[in-house]
Amino acid sequence: MDISPIHSLKKILEDKTKKIVLVSHVNPDGDAVGSSLGFYLFLKNDLHENVVSILPGGFPSFLAWLPGADSIIIADKEKEKACSALENADIVFCLDFNDTDRTAVLADSFKKTKGIKILIDHHPDPKDQFDFRISTTQVSSTAELIYEVILGMNKQHLIDLDVAQCLYTGIVTDTGSFSYACNYPRTYYIIGHFMNLGLNGEQIHRQIYDTYSEDRLRLLGHSLSKNLKVLEEYHAAYIFLYASDLENFNYQEGDSEGIVNYALSIKGIHLAAIFIEREDQVKISFRSEGEVNVNVLARKYYRGGGHKNAAGGSSKKSLDSIMNEFEDILKEISKDDFRLLKDV
Ligand code: 5GP
Ligand code: MN
Repeated sequence: MDISPIHSLKKILEDKTKKIVLVSHVNPDGDAVGSSLGFYLFLKNDLHENVVSILPGGFPSFLAWLPGADSIIIADKEKEKACSALENADIVFCLDFNDTDRTAVLADSFKKTKGIKILIDHHPDPKDQFDFRISTTQVSSTAELIYEVILGMNKQHLIDLDVAQCLYTGIVTDTGSFSYACNYPRTYYIIGHFMNLGLNGEQIHRQIYDTYSEDRLRLLGHSLSKNLKVLEEYHAAYIFLYASDLENFNYQEGDSEGIVNYALSIKGIHLAAIFIEREDQVKISFRSEGEVNVNVLARKYYRGGGHKNAAGGSSKKSLDSIMNEFEDILKEISKDDFRLLKDV
């Protein structure tokens, strides 16, 4: 990674009166919220006077315990406040996304803002929309990269327990509790630092993963027993949820998080998907193993993107036609060990 932008960043952050806005992506996950809040609290510790963290929409309730979570401005609820903060910012940090389209209702304000746009992100192929890019795929998460940025500025003394808890949450959730994107020794070294600050990893795990509602658990059960299709010949499996399924299980933001991973856990399955029928579109998530590149799949067919082994997209077609087309696509791409996805 080219670290010269970190030196520029250190200079830019010398003036503590600058108006700073942190933005992350729509449907925020643990890394979006954890890296935003971790960096927000760090900047506060660094005595910045005007810092706000903005998300395009609400975040799942299992992240509500994070230090500073109450201070986040949700653009879906306070659009004017969010857009005006973004448009009038001096510095805009863009965290955990590689394309401003991912900021949904905030995308227009991105075009209008005069602030310096600084990307800190771990997705491949960031767009050319930022003034500085601190970007590498060789980390577990944006949260981990935030840690490196703080160290790169020689400000490690400002990482306190609250900052550590936020960044740790980004790492835990983006690695599926250390099951993928986690073969980096450095990740564990960083966690060692967090533990020395008093971080309780077991407790955080319980706060994130052991706070299901009964409805959420039953939605998972329903997804696996009734709505899972396994296509062994294509080494693929997918789960589908109709709007009526969501309604029956009183769906709340975040309730479908992680379900797709179960489809990938079947022996011999290398590609998994979930299709979720939402109000105006079908939301799609992909997970894969090894060299099967679902980022390419999401980009090519589903107006989406993401990482090699975890990506997502959406479609305005009906859920039934999406599933039919997906099976046709699978037939094609599973030939030759998914080489079609590797080549692009
Ligand atoms: P998830 O499937 O958990 O929603 O997202 C997995 C990864 O794919 C994340 O890195 C996320 O940023 C990315 N992703 C999910 N949905 C979309 C989308 O609609 N567009 C793009 N560009 N990336 C997405
Ligand atoms: Mn991430």
